Amino acid sequence: MTPVVQLKAVTREFAGTAAVREVDLTVTRGQFVALLGPSGCGKTTTLRMIAGYLQPTSGTILLEGRDATRLPPERRNIGMVFQSYALFPHMTVAKNVAFGLQMRKVPAAQIRTRVHEALDLVGLAHLADRRPQQLSGGQQQRVALARAIAARPAVLLLDEPLSNLDARLRVQMRQELLRIQRETGITAILVTHDQEEALELADSMVILDRGRVVQQGHPREVFRAPRTRFVAEFLGYENFLDLPGRGRITIRPEHVDVVEHDAAPPAGGESVTGTVAAVRFRGTDCVVTVDVGGQNVLATTTNDSLRAGSPVRLFLPLDRAISLTGTDSVPGD
Ligand code: ATP
Repeated sequence: MTPVVQLKAVTREFAGTAAVREVDLTVTRGQFVALLGPSGCGKTTTLRMIAGYLQPTSGTILLEGRDATRLPPERRNIGMVFQSYALFPHMTVAKNVAFGLQMRKVPAAQIRTRVHEALDLVGLAHLADRRPQQLSGGQQQRVALARAIAARPAVLLLDEPLSNLDARLRVQMRQELLRIQRETGITAILVTHDQEEALELADSMVILDRGRVVQQGHPREVFRAPRTRFVAEFLGYENFLDLPGRGRITIRPEHVDVVEHDAAPPAGGESVTGTVAAVRFRGTDCVVTVDVGGQNVLATTTNDSLRAGSPVRLFLPLDRAISLTGTDSVPGD
């Protein structure tokens, strides 16, 4: 099957500095891909090149199998939803959704049907005659989504679409976005710096570090087996240890057992001794920071008798330890 979007060795420089370096990316029909990474890693630059608002310095962009590297945005059959919604304030919801279709001279009867369908899909058919300022932020974002979908683009580009919403609404809208994407089967590329959002929505996650793809795969796969410390840290792993004979590993605090320092270590794992440096009470459990020969290791425990200075033993079950096999250095740095 021809990929909907394909990037081949795409690089973009600004004043001689590469913001995106040799990125290869393949998005197949119906896929929901998330570009994830910290601020400045090149997510938006990548998305803007796919949309045609920016030209690559080198490399090729194929859309539905055709070379689109130099095509202007309006000839790319792409829908875009921004963080800022970008709705026309003087137009009703229905007119906002219809606008792009009118520009493309779609027949009026078809526009009516498509606008209605798109608003129905996002659950806003009853607000078709309102103006954007009479809607909540979440509703405005749904209008922006309806507008993009009504045009039936080959691919929907979502640039941090939920980041202007408050935390509760953001989680609700994630579910909504997922439902809409599944119902329409639309191919989508989401840019986000929110790992939870990417884990929940995407069926393929692309992690960028300083303009390069450092890991890519199903969210579950990447989460269970981050290759490098950068990826692991970005996904919320906090413990990094060099174990003799095993190399560098990471392990989640909830998988580390903290026991009395003179307790016999259970079999099947690595056991180290250390001193409690800090205890953070969280209600149902505590997060204990343990100094192990100068390295801090975090563990969770329900034992609330531990205090700073307590000698303890940590048990690291090896079946929970993840080996970090890659390095984070960027060639050319
Ligand atoms: P954020 O999450 O903060 O939006 P991002 O991952 O989307 O970050 P980009 O906006 O793609 O990152 O920027 C990548 C790098 O390119 C940054 O170092 C940024 O400063 C630089 N950059 C982006 N656009 C321009 C521009 N028009 N001129 C110069 N430098 C730019």
